[in-house]
Amino acid sequence: MPAIIDENECTGCGLCVDECPSEAITLLDSGVSRVDPAACVDCGACVDVCPVAAITLE
Ligand code: SF4
Ligand code: SF4
Repeated sequence: MPAIIDENECTGCGLCVDECPSEAITLLDSGVSRVDPAACVDCGACVDVCPVAAITLE
């Protein structure tokens, strides 16, 4: 299953955006990041890099 970002936890640091090998994560104008589930390849790299554990692979 694709990664999901908890928008209540995300600080908008952008680390996951840089880490994603398939460019599936976008930092929104609202200050949180979002995963495009169609582009996510379930690699888990974003989960490991997030400093506030806002990302889960379901
Ligand atoms: S699990 Fe991998 S492919 Fe999916 S959003 Fe995270 S870094 Fe990108
Ligand atoms: S690494 Fe975590 S806190 Fe930073 S933008 Fe991504 S989801 Fe948000």
